[in-house]
Amino acid sequence: MATTKVVEVKCECGEVFEAELVTSIAAGEDIDVKERILTGGLNLVKCPNCGRVFYAETFILYHDNKNQLLAYVYPLECKDQKEEYEKQMRQEFNKAMADFGESINYQPIILFGIEALANLLLKEQDMEDEEMIARYFCKERHFYTIELPSAFARKYGIVRVLPTTKQGDPLGIAEAVKSLVEYNPQLVFYKTLYDRISQGDFNPSNLGPPNDD
Ligand SMILES: [Zn+2]
Repeated sequence: MATTKVVEVKCECGEVFEAELVTSIAAGEDIDVKERILTGGLNLVKCPNCGRVFYAETFILYHDNKNQLLAYVYPLECKDQKEEYEKQMRQEFNKAMADFGESINYQPIILFGIEALANLLLKEQDMEDEEMIARYFCKERHFYTIELPSAFARKYGIVRVLPTTKQGDPLGIAEAVKSLVEYNPQLVFYKTLYDRISQGDFNPSNLGPPNDD
């Protein structure tokens, strides 16, 4: 579901006009809105004076509960004042929790520009494809998987589905990931994970118990 707001937009030609823009998106059910973000079709406006069609920058709140993704997407031009907007995001997030008694057990993330959101969604789509292959591989090899909560995996920059040779044991991850990337060297996210484990940049045994969601 998408919520829209009438916002004043300024065109390069100097014309100022009102346009209805999407400012809040509850993703999940709405595949159409997600598609529009990915293809750059969201919040396109046409100047009534010169006819130019352009993307109108505005703040967008993007929430995908299933994927534990709550993104505060500020206009690209705000990027230089990141700290200020981070503070603003915290305040608004805390206020929203208090106001609606909502319990979101993951932290919001901050992004600047719709392209940053599109890139994140695309990356996670590709990741999901690899995770499916990893699940299939584990089943074939009689390995196991450890499923991480999305927000947790995003924070560490890793995939959510971790193969392991020992059931429920992170100590079997290194070996299982090695077998997986040998089986399919095209898996970029798993290859990155493998490299990080090899270089000691990521230690699966430090993962701790994944939270249930
Ligand atoms: Zn114009």
